[in-house]
Amino acid sequence: RAKANVTQTVCFYEQAMDEAVRANRALANDLREAVENGQLDLHYQVQTSVSTGDIRGYEALLRWKHPTRGNIPPIEFIPLAEENGLILPLGEWVLRTACAKAASWEHPYKVAVNLSPVQFAHADLPKLVHEILLETGLRPNRLELEITESTIIADKNRTLTILRRIKALGVTIAIDDFGTGYSSLETLRAFPFDKIKLDRSFMSEVETSPQAKAIIRAVLALGQSLHIPVLAEGVETHSQLSILRAEGCNEAQGYLLGRPAPFGEIFALMHGHNGIAATALAAPAQAV
Ligand code: C2E
Ligand code: MG
Ligand code: MG
Ligand code: MG
Repeated sequence: RAKANVTQTVCFYEQAMDEAVRANRALANDLREAVENGQLDLHYQVQTSVSTGDIRGYEALLRWKHPTRGNIPPIEFIPLAEENGLILPLGEWVLRTACAKAASWEHPYKVAVNLSPVQFAHADLPKLVHEILLETGLRPNRLELEITESTIIADKNRTLTILRRIKALGVTIAIDDFGTGYSSLETLRAFPFDKIKLDRSFMSEVETSPQAKAIIRAVLALGQSLHIPVLAEGVETHSQLSILRAEGCNEAQGYLLGRPAPFGEIFALMHGHNGIAATALAAPAQAV
């Protein structure tokens, strides 16, 4: 009896896995067509100076509007695209689109683009970046590339070589989701980062966990002594922002300052007044 149950359970798991594999394959096929069918879009999220509230840049975030399943979040389809190599054309599309849009902005804000480890492994990334900059006319110092520690771990020396070539173009590099991966400190010493993006998990706990606050402090101190500005991700409340101001954090990003939004909305804001960011920052500044 027990044996029968085990067999049943195994069968159930195999069936469930088959279904998952099939669903993934179907989704991967849909994704292949998504680029051509215009189902992909970039949203932009503002990055601001903590002390002045000034806009510093916008991070481009990939969106997929599936014809029947609706919006599918990047954490679901990017791993899939990385598995089957689709991330290469996809990543190129993101880079080209983000640079072209940013080149059309009236203000010289930076545009930040996320890169997958696969793009480092398989594409001639510095050449691609260089070509896209020439093609779109975006000044290199307005492009920031965000990488995660998984990119570095994949092949340290190769990544370092590629990053140096990209930096030689005048493009800046940010380390994303900092504090969640491995070998963070060694990474900071060896890699030429221009910005540290502190993972949003620390921000969500800053008010309840003294440990989270201590880590934020430590990273800010580290950034200061290494002369690397720190951006806090996931800032959702005024009190979180006040803490960041008190602790001397350089930049902030999060729903409080602005949610990721389509280019059209961002463009309207940019050309209207100084944007949501300034409004959000004005309140706590008066309170102090
Ligand atoms: P990320 O690069 O760390 O991007 C920040 C994520 O945090 C975004 O999620 C953003 O919408 C979300 N976020 C921003 N502010 C807040 C906040 O105040 N609270 C909360 N809870 N979340 C906030 P999104 O757009 O779902 O993207 C998830 C991840 O997918 C990104 O994390 C990035 O790793 C990846 N991704 C997105 N677009 C691309 C892309 O074009 N290429 C690659 N390779 N990866 C991408
Ligand atoms: Mg990012
Ligand atoms: Mg991040
Ligand atoms: Mg992330």
